[in-house]
Amino acid sequence: MLKSMLNSASTIARLTAIIESAPMAIIMIDDQGHVVLANKEAEILFGYHREELLGQPVEVLVPQEFRRNHPELRSTFFAHPTPRRMGAGRELFGLRKDGSTFPVEIGLNPIETEEGIFVVSAVVDITERKRLENLFRSTVESAPIAMVMIDSEGTIVVVNAETEKLFGYTRQALLGCRIEMLIPERLRHHHPELRTRFFGAPEARRMGAGRDLFGLRQDGSEFPIEIGLNPIEMEEGLYVLSAIVDITERKRLENALRQTNELLEQRVQQRTRQLSAQAETLQRANEALERSNLELQQFAYIASHDLQSPLRSISGFVQLLQAEYTGKLDIQADDWIKRTVQSIQQMQILIRDLLAYSRVDSESRPFKAVPFRKIFDDTISLLDAAIVETHAQISCDAELPLVVGDRSQLVQLLHNLVNNAIKYHGDQPPRVHVSATRSENTWIFCVQDHGIGIDPRYHERIFEIFRRLHNQKEYPGTGIGLAVCRRVVHRHGGKIWVESQPGLGSRFYFTIPERTGEGV
Ligand code: ADP
Repeated sequence: MLKSMLNSASTIARLTAIIESAPMAIIMIDDQGHVVLANKEAEILFGYHREELLGQPVEVLVPQEFRRNHPELRSTFFAHPTPRRMGAGRELFGLRKDGSTFPVEIGLNPIETEEGIFVVSAVVDITERKRLENLFRSTVESAPIAMVMIDSEGTIVVVNAETEKLFGYTRQALLGCRIEMLIPERLRHHHPELRTRFFGAPEARRMGAGRDLFGLRQDGSEFPIEIGLNPIEMEEGLYVLSAIVDITERKRLENALRQTNELLEQRVQQRTRQLSAQAETLQRANEALERSNLELQQFAYIASHDLQSPLRSISGFVQLLQAEYTGKLDIQADDWIKRTVQSIQQMQILIRDLLAYSRVDSESRPFKAVPFRKIFDDTISLLDAAIVETHAQISCDAELPLVVGDRSQLVQLLHNLVNNAIKYHGDQPPRVHVSATRSENTWIFCVQDHGIGIDPRYHERIFEIFRRLHNQKEYPGTGIGLAVCRRVVHRHGGKIWVESQPGLGSRFYFTIPERTGEGV
């Protein structure tokens, strides 16, 4: 078709019209290498006016250094004219009128006419593409991780310096080889299939999700890797750029972490087992303790309660004996009867106190709001005889607070403390003062005396049951009073302690937390 169209010079004129509007530079030369036609784009690309080019050897558009070979190459082409790319495997350059050169790609198309063969060359300025290619190469080269680009056959076409370092091969040893050389033999056979699959549906992604990947160094050693795949579309086809990271160190840390975790878990389990065994033992011991405490309390209560009535009979009979027979028997008998009466009285007091102690928990009453002043007044009336007998002065703060608790137990508490303050007075008649101060949500009460005082060594111990610092002759007592006080205070959620020095009097403190109760 072209041939029939181009059978005269006027056909060249017609062809001029067609190529004029082409979007790329087109130059036609005759078999002597003279320019016979150039379009507008060619004028722009090379910086010549068309008239300046027509009739000129095409070599004016070829840089000096390539010009020498050009006529020969041209003749070779004219000898076997087929449409093809020019300069396979070589980089081609164009020369502008101003002397500057630029990279080009040239397509050659022979046209046969009656006047002979012409060649239509389509010239494309590939400066921009070269710039991008260089940018791509330098980016890959300067990447801080190994990067390898392969074509769809798995041939390595680009590697960077990091790849050389990582795999121990030189660039020359890698370029043009199959990518499988970097994969351990035992994993190699899968690879072509996986690659084909990737090229079939290319997308940027991680390689080998869920699988462990390994690289093979030139020295035959393997190492764990992670690979990111990026499909890259080029004119020549599809390529894949892989970013390869050595994760040996990460794996090592992961392993170390896992081992540490396992060890920790084992330790925790072991410790938990130990602790739960200990807790079980402790619970059993607590239960046993609770049982025996309860039994003891019951025993103390039953024993003291049941002892009361035979003791009352014994006391009655002995008192009868004393009333009826004193002076009728001999002196010895009178003395024994007197001592028996005293011992029985002593025992009655002991049993009364023991009962009081065991009743703190067993016969407790619900808490109610009660003005502490009332508790003070009740205490004073209970101690009336002792107060008169010892000429004691008992005072209290003008204002005493309202407290919530078991009224009769609080009377018992204050009674025991004031009673002791009176009992353990020194040479002077007892002076006792009851006061109350508030600290946060707690009332702190104080019973202060000016009596014999207590050695700090015994400040803790005096609250234990049956602990006494004196014998019956010096000061009668059972050693139960303060133990009752402690129990009552604990039941009310408070604390009790003493501050004292021998000869300087004592201050017994106890706390009662502020709380709302019935009637408050
Ligand atoms: P008791 O008074 O029956 O001996 P308590 O339990 O009431 O038993 O007191 C224990 C001991 O604490 C007393 O024997 C006494 O030595 C000492 N004690 C208690 N209150 C005072 C006090 N106000 N001054 C000095 N000593 C005291």
